[in-house]
Amino acid sequence: MDKNQRFILDISTLLNTGFEMDILLKNFTLIDGSGREPIADAVIAISEGKIIYAGAGSGWKDSIPFGEADRESVILDLRGKYVLPGLIDAHVHLSGSGEADSQFYAPTGQMALKILSNAQKNLAAGITTVRDLGGWSELEFDVRRSIQRGDFAGPRMCLAGRFISITEAGADYYVGMYRVADGVDEVRKAVREQVKHGADVIKMGVTGAVLVESGVPGTTHFNYDEVQALVEEAKKFGKPVAMHAHGIDGIRKAVDAGVSTLEHGTYLYQDPSVIQYMAEHGVFLVPTLKVGWDIILAKNSNVPEWILQKNKSSQGEAALSLKLAYEAGVPIAMGSDVGTPLNVHGENALEVYWMQQAGLSVMDAIVAATGNAARALGWDSWMGTLEAGKVADLIVHEKNLLEDLRVLADKVSLQFVMKDGMIAACHAGDELPKELFAKQVLGI
Ligand SMILES: [Zn+2]
Repeated sequence: MDKNQRFILDISTLLNTGFEMDILLKNFTLIDGSGREPIADAVIAISEGKIIYAGAGSGWKDSIPFGEADRESVILDLRGKYVLPGLIDAHVHLSGSGEADSQFYAPTGQMALKILSNAQKNLAAGITTVRDLGGWSELEFDVRRSIQRGDFAGPRMCLAGRFISITEAGADYYVGMYRVADGVDEVRKAVREQVKHGADVIKMGVTGAVLVESGVPGTTHFNYDEVQALVEEAKKFGKPVAMHAHGIDGIRKAVDAGVSTLEHGTYLYQDPSVIQYMAEHGVFLVPTLKVGWDIILAKNSNVPEWILQKNKSSQGEAALSLKLAYEAGVPIAMGSDVGTPLNVHGENALEVYWMQQAGLSVMDAIVAATGNAARALGWDSWMGTLEAGKVADLIVHEKNLLEDLRVLADKVSLQFVMKDGMIAACHAGDELPKELFAKQVLGI
């Protein structure tokens, strides 16, 4: 294919801000993120950053411009490519860059830049929304403010602030990420602190962790009264709870207390009644399989032996838990845990492939990273699927990702990333209308 001919453009008239333009995408296969069958020869119509039509080309009756006749408009012929919602990663750590030893630390200024740089790697890879479940010294809130102001390009960010933990070694290991809280009163205070900083979700670690050397993933950390108090305090402020939990006793406490998402869920398979409860009450499982595979499959990596061994011993069980939960109807959301060892920002979408390998259908794995992930965040009323009324966050792929989900992480296949109806990332030299470019456009 001629590099300069990626798209055929029929540019009617152009203004200097795309936001005020009506946009029509045509001639592509639509995968809308709801789980519906793909639609060939589809059309998406966008006005003021929002989708006003997404579906079969034959069902599109209006012509553009959609509003007043003197409005500016642009038509993009996507020549048989594949369009799906911008991906949502429900479990990332922007403060980590995949350091082999899992040491995230950097001095304050460098850490702020590291968070911004990692956030941008997500956007450039088509991850238009991230949920960070363990930031660093509240710097991610500052980075988000800068992105929201338009100072820098970046994804939408759903933030937890600090990881609320009991007194344990992880707090020294991840200084800046943890908020130690022992006892009901401290737990409540820790929640209030995260809310004060602007948290959208509260993160708690109810069991030990894989990536803490002395951590025993099966061991319960918080007592039930502490878990209950945290969920109650979070709900008071309208915040959902994302619970880090590996061991079945901790998982049981978390689910009983009313968490919204269960992170990892490694030993969930041990109690089918908990799986059933999650299915009935719509508690999401965010399985985070990619990090384990990255570590286990890496050749000659610098990952410490204890990290390698812990992942080897639990990876099969984590995949089994996902399979059983999926088969029982537990809602699944994609979370790559990027930032953790060898698990670099920008390759998040491989988690979708690993979920499929564990038993999800191709379409359900895609839904886990789009419509379902939006539900897990509580943001599904306005984003996550390509439907009328939702924000125009979308990605365009050259290759047929339905044949191989690894295409989702293929940066040659990824043509451009749109956020809020503006092109936020694309290949250099693409024949895309500059009027649709956001203030800052990232290279893919
Ligand atoms: Zn994590």
